[in-house]
Order: sequence, then C-alpha cells, then structure tokens
Amino acid sequence: MPRPIHACIHTPALQHNLARARAAAADAKVWAVVKANAYGHGIEHVFEGLRGADGFALLDLSEAQRVRQLGWRGPILLLEGVFEPRDLELCSRLSLWHTIHCDEQIDMLAAHKTQVAHRVFLKMNTGMNRLGFTPQRFRSAWARLNALPQVDEISFMTHFSDADGARGIAHQVAAFNAAAQDLPGERSLCNSAATLRQRPGTPAVYADWVRAGIALYGSAPDHPEHTAAHWGLQPTMTLATRLIGTQQLQAGDTVGYGSCFTADGPTLVGIAACGYADGYPRHAGTGAPVLVDGVRTRLLGRVSMDMLAVDLNPVLAAGLQPGWGSEVTLWGRSSTGAVLPIDDVAHAAGTVGYELMCALAPRVPVAVAD
Ligand SMILES: *Cc1c(COP(=O)(O)O)cnc(C)c1O
Repeated sequence: MPRPIHACIHTPALQHNLARARAAAADAKVWAVVKANAYGHGIEHVFEGLRGADGFALLDLSEAQRVRQLGWRGPILLLEGVFEPRDLELCSRLSLWHTIHCDEQIDMLAAHKTQVAHRVFLKMNTGMNRLGFTPQRFRSAWARLNALPQVDEISFMTHFSDADGARGIAHQVAAFNAAAQDLPGERSLCNSAATLRQRPGTPAVYADWVRAGIALYGSAPDHPEHTAAHWGLQPTMTLATRLIGTQQLQAGDTVGYGSCFTADGPTLVGIAACGYADGYPRHAGTGAPVLVDGVRTRLLGRVSMDMLAVDLNPVLAAGLQPGWGSEVTLWGRSSTGAVLPIDDVAHAAGTVGYELMCALAPRVPVAVAD
C-alpha cells in the first residue's frame, strides 16, 4: 500500500471561484493564471474547472504547449514574454500572445520571420519596478512595436505592487492612464486582489481583462485582513493523509526533533504521514492548525521530513476516538465537510497560501474530484 498521503483538486470549487472572479470583474474578460503548474495544482488537473475562462495566462512555453494539447484554442498569454528568439517560432505556431516588457524583446520580434503577425501585451512599469517600460519610455516602445509588420494588435498591461494592502492601486492606475490614455488597444491591470477589492464608487479599473490567479485557487489574496470565506471562495486543493501511529505522553514528555514541544499533562499524540518532503511547511510549529476526523486541532513540535505530530486531545474532547488510520486534513476539505483554509496554515508558518500550493511535492499523488 502506498503512503496514505494524497492531494485532491476540486473541479466544482474551481468553477465556483472562476464565477466569483467573473462576477467581481464586471464586464471584463478573465485570464485564468495557471503559471507554476496552476499554482501547484497541475495544469491538467485544473483545466476542466477553469476552461470557462476567456484565456489562460502563464510563463513557460512548455506550459502553453500543455494547454494547447488539452484542446484549448482560445487565447494564451505569456506573462513574461519570450526569453530567446526561437521562442517566437512557438508563439507563431501555437498562436500565443506575449508580453513585451523590454527593448530586447522588441529587437527579437523585429528580427523574427513570420507569416502570422503577433498579438502582444506591452507592459508598463507603473511602480512595481520589476518588469516593464517606464511611463516616460512607454510611448516610444509602442511606436517601435506599432511600426513592425510582425505585430498585429497591441494591448496594454501593468501590475500592481499593493493591491492587497493599504497603499492601494490609485497611484499606479493614474500613472498608467496618463501614459496610455490615447493609445488604442485593450487593457489589463488587475490581479486577484485588485479585482476583489475594487470598491463601489471608485473608477473601474477592470479594463478589458483581469488576471485572476490566487482567487481561482480559493485563497484570499489579502489574508489575514480578509479570509477566503469573506470573498466567497472555496478551497480547490485538499492535502490529506492518515495517522500511522499514536503516543500517549505524560507531563514532561517531548515530541520530535529538538524536543520542541513538552506536554504539560496527559496528551494523546497522533503521528501523521506528511512532512516537509510532501510540501508541508517546516516553518509551521506547535499550534499550526490541522483537522483530525474533521475536528480542528494543532500541530505539536517540529515537522519532520515524512511525518508530523498532532494533538489528539481536542478530538477526544469532541467525543471521537482518533487512532491509527484516522483522517488528517492538512488543508482543504475533510470528508466530514469541515474546511481548513490553506491561508490559516500559511499564516501559522509565516507565509502565504500561494507558497504552500506551489510547493506541493511531486511525490504526493493528485486526484481530481468532480
Ligand atoms: C501571477 C500574476 C498574476 C496573478 O496574481 P494573483 O495575485 O495570483 O491573482 C497577475 N498578473 C501577473 C503579471 C502575474 O505574474
């Protein structure tokens, strides 16, 4: 028998979250961002749930190829554009739209021989200071692109640094609008946070396309200020395993490497078959939330490579008899229907839901549930 750990991807939850993003984005079209292998879910595993999107946005050409192989004939956008000249051949062949964020990419396009002109998204750096042309240089980049026979339609995009936080997006929206205002073409500004946090009464920034990532995967982009439940999002990934051992501790007994947890009284401990080699964050320590048979309890001590320890006293207190084989939900939905938001686990580990999903280890078998 294989180790009892497994992940489950929930197709109806993906469909639900996509509908939520769509509703929040008013009339805008929705890019489903599936970079990083669909935030760790697996592109093939989310395709059914997200095929109602207007397009797929990602980074790797190999991922674009996989989306085409799944039969997707609609738009695909490379969010970082191409990395070398021959990538443009694949863009022509698979009809990929690509971001242009630097002069080198315009040079490559100018030297590219193609029958089909490319749809490109010209990226403005409005303050994130990662990729893109500054507002001052934006127009000349556009003029250069616009003069190329290799270029068909030009669209415009920018990316927000603080859509999930107090600083907000207004200063970047103003910079974008000032520099792009009379240029003809579609626009894309918002990530999940900007899409969800748009306030009634403020000028709409949805533009023509929103780029929804984390919201589709059921995690709140602005946790802990808001929870996934606040935004009406459902978990799309469950990581679950079983207890493969129990230990009865007395006061003074410790658990695991470094003896980081010391019992202050009789404590029934469960040993779950999940560790950091499965993608569970080692930074989570005593107190990180976990479900056993659907009852919320806590981690005890340090996470090992293949195992972690959980406190079974709250499960006993709930009237259950946890033991060997009991279901342990690391995040997502238990078979009782109880939900443990991935954001709660991430928070306990000092990180964000994004990182936990993306870190799901290859050794964990993944199933899709309808
Ligand atoms: C990853 C990414 C997104 C999606 O961000 P979320 O916070 O997951 O919604 C949008 N735009 C760009 C350019 C990205 O790289």
